[in-house]
Amino acid sequence: MEKRDYYEVLGVSREASVDEIKRAYRKGALKHHPDNVKGDDKAAAERKFKELAEAYEVLSDPAKRQRYDHYGHEGLRGAGVHDFSNMGFGDIFSMFEDIFGGGSMGGGMSDHGLDLETEVKLTLEQVAGGHDEALEFERMDYCETCGGSGAKPGTRPDKCSTCGGYGRVQQQVPGFFGVSVRVMPCPTCKGKGRIVRERCPVCIGSGRQKKKRALTVHIPAGVQEGQVVRVRGEGEPGATGTTRGDLHVYIRIKPHPLLTRRGDDLVCQAPISFSQAALGGKIQVPTLWGMEEIEVPAGTQSGDVLRLKGLGLPSTRTGRKGDQYVQLNIEVPRKLSKRQRELLEQYAEIEEVEVTPQRKSFIDKLKECFVPQK
Ligand SMILES: [Zn+2]
Ligand SMILES: [Zn+2]
Repeated sequence: MEKRDYYEVLGVSREASVDEIKRAYRKGALKHHPDNVKGDDKAAAERKFKELAEAYEVLSDPAKRQRYDHYGHEGLRGAGVHDFSNMGFGDIFSMFEDIFGGGSMGGGMSDHGLDLETEVKLTLEQVAGGHDEALEFERMDYCETCGGSGAKPGTRPDKCSTCGGYGRVQQQVPGFFGVSVRVMPCPTCKGKGRIVRERCPVCIGSGRQKKKRALTVHIPAGVQEGQVVRVRGEGEPGATGTTRGDLHVYIRIKPHPLLTRRGDDLVCQAPISFSQAALGGKIQVPTLWGMEEIEVPAGTQSGDVLRLKGLGLPSTRTGRKGDQYVQLNIEVPRKLSKRQRELLEQYAEIEEVEVTPQRKSFIDKLKECFVPQK
């Protein structure tokens, strides 16, 4: 099926703010929620509801929105956009729970599933261009046999008679000022509201099962060491009707053999010869974007720094690239050929040692120090 434009799906302009997008999604999702639609329109509502969720997931995430704006639907391949077509409504609602006002739509308790953590190691090249990391991990998930209810297939869990299915009970607590009432999780069903009489043989009533999950996560360009990319709704499921936890992807950055990172800037050390420093010339330096030819000015001193504008890393916030700094270090040859030695000796004869600026001031200071004291 041809995908519609996400802005059109949400009915917002391409310049819409995050708040406008949020409002548009909220309005649309409530309107098309299957509980609010009757009869034959349900299937159409379901499609519309999932289309809205997908549009919202992309446009509410700055990195995904940017990719979509530049490259359209094609640009989101591997960006970690959920496949909503085979997700349940409860899951979709819980994914975006924050915009529906907490657990009110799910109707359950508000504790959500466990967050999971993982780590990715990136090269500076991957940081520069952004990166799609294919992850594979194990997590507790809904049991396939019972669909998460914990009940044997063909049976249904009963409503808990202690709490009437609410999962919570009121308890009267005697205290100094008389009896007070406290709300607590139901001890019979442990807050679930349901009692499983015949357990599912696969998960033994827990409703959960360990499952492999493969997922491609888009790491935006410019990330820093230790930064966390949060993938919403990819953690473990919580109690029935609550949100899934999130997956936290910790960023580690591998050291580069030639480049050192300083914020969004890069620094490299480039060796040059004594004659290149004196006469000037062209040298090749490595950058994350390929080799770059730079002009060493005549009269370069050891330690001088040249700036290559815009060849650093992009900022995660603005996308603007930092610079690369090249520090030039003069290497004095440890060995000389016969011819080199002859020429250098000739050069030394005519070298006006005392007039080079640093040398001159050094000798002046030396003389001051050794003026005989009277
Ligand atoms: Zn099961
Ligand atoms: Zn109960």
